Amino acid sequence: MLVVKFGGTSVGKPERMKKIATLVREMPGKKIVVLSALSGTTNTLVRIGDHLLAQQHTAAEQEISTLEKHYEQFIKELYGSESYQAIGQEIVSRYFSLFRLLSAGKFDDRSYRELLAQGELISTELFYHHLQEIKVSSRLLPALHFMSIDENQEPELEKISERLKPILGTMSHVDILVTQGYICRNHKNEIDNLKRGGSDYTASLMGAAIRAEEIQIWTDIDGMHNNDPRIVKKTVPIAELTFDEASELAYFGAKILHPSTIVPAQKYGVPVRLKNTMDEKAPGTIISNKGSRGEFKAVAAKDGITAIKIKSSRMLLAHGFLRKVFEVFERYRTSIDMISTSEVAVSLTIDDNKNLKPILEELTSFGTIEVDENQSIICIVGNLLSEKEGVLREVFEALKKVPIRMVSYGGSYNNISILVDSSQKDKALNLLNEGIFHL
Ligand code: ADP
Ligand code: ASP
Ligand code: MG
Repeated sequence: MLVVKFGGTSVGKPERMKKIATLVREMPGKKIVVLSALSGTTNTLVRIGDHLLAQQHTAAEQEISTLEKHYEQFIKELYGSESYQAIGQEIVSRYFSLFRLLSAGKFDDRSYRELLAQGELISTELFYHHLQEIKVSSRLLPALHFMSIDENQEPELEKISERLKPILGTMSHVDILVTQGYICRNHKNEIDNLKRGGSDYTASLMGAAIRAEEIQIWTDIDGMHNNDPRIVKKTVPIAELTFDEASELAYFGAKILHPSTIVPAQKYGVPVRLKNTMDEKAPGTIISNKGSRGEFKAVAAKDGITAIKIKSSRMLLAHGFLRKVFEVFERYRTSIDMISTSEVAVSLTIDDNKNLKPILEELTSFGTIEVDENQSIICIVGNLLSEKEGVLREVFEALKKVPIRMVSYGGSYNNISILVDSSQKDKALNLLNEGIFHL
């Protein structure tokens, strides 16, 4: 069985939705099709939710009406026959009545999450009826029946797998199962989600849960590129990546994949293939256990990083010092991305500032603290980079005009992380493109 995920742009226009119906119909064997919301919808739902939390009902209603018109036009172009136009209209009216009901009631965090979930629910329903209209047999699989996260917001892979088995058993005669990306239930059984961009994660979790043959992520670009195409002009697709390399790239900012996508696939060795909906002949990228060694593969950058330096004369030869520092971060459930140490100081980075204030208050008992916000981690990825001679020289030569705040190398075989002020990020990515990829 294949798990194939199509992102927002792949379903964002009626002709694209029709195209993916053809693509899916022509794929051999059984497949689970995971869909995102139509492009722009989740952003609009976020704006509506923000307005409603701030009691700005008129602004929310304006956004709802504009979105409604968009969907009305969408169904006009998606369905050919009058009877399916009527079905489409019924679907759109039902969802927009729900938006208005939600906005009329007491709007809280729970209603917000329910609102955010509607984007994927409506896109899958519209797609399923398109398949019906063109007489392609399929079934809708409600993600809220099997996707769940625990009290730490971690997906419950074993439970997901247990719930999916009987459902798939009863559907063994159906070749195409359509389900929602992104949405799930939390430990209180409320509607929740896997965070922005989470449909990739859904696909990987489902692929791992059913031990799929392959997980395919279809998007608007021909695979993982060697650099961020939104920032660097000339980038090239990478044919093969190992799970470890892809995992680092996703975690450190390659937007093409949700940061956690690779984790479940890697756990069960299910290959992940990245493909372009606009150019299905392009080979894309295959992510698996295999991959070439000893070369630079790609760079990515992650913004919103805070660097904290703790300077302490007591650190000198003091065992247990780092443990005490890490315990502070653990207490505030804040994960650390990079660390570097000297005898008198330790620098580390975090990407979540929610508890920065109490963390800093506790850290002051260890020594002098310096904080730099608005930093970016530039992550340079390749397999067994340490086997390649002169790796660091090449990187530093490329970045000789960029002030570097921190470096981390040797933590894994496939990553060099460099911390720069975010104002230097675009320049650093472009210089690395010339300096290490010669593009
Ligand atoms: P989808 O809506 O299909 O999930 P996304 O917008 O989330 O698509 O991800 C695809 C986008 O990721 C591309 O259009 C591209 O701009 C961006 N991107 C950032 N870094 C990379 C990279 N290294 N390789 C490919 N795409 C990247
Ligand atoms: N629709 C969700 C988002 O925009 C999930 C996704 O597209 O992956 O974040
Ligand atoms: Mg995405």
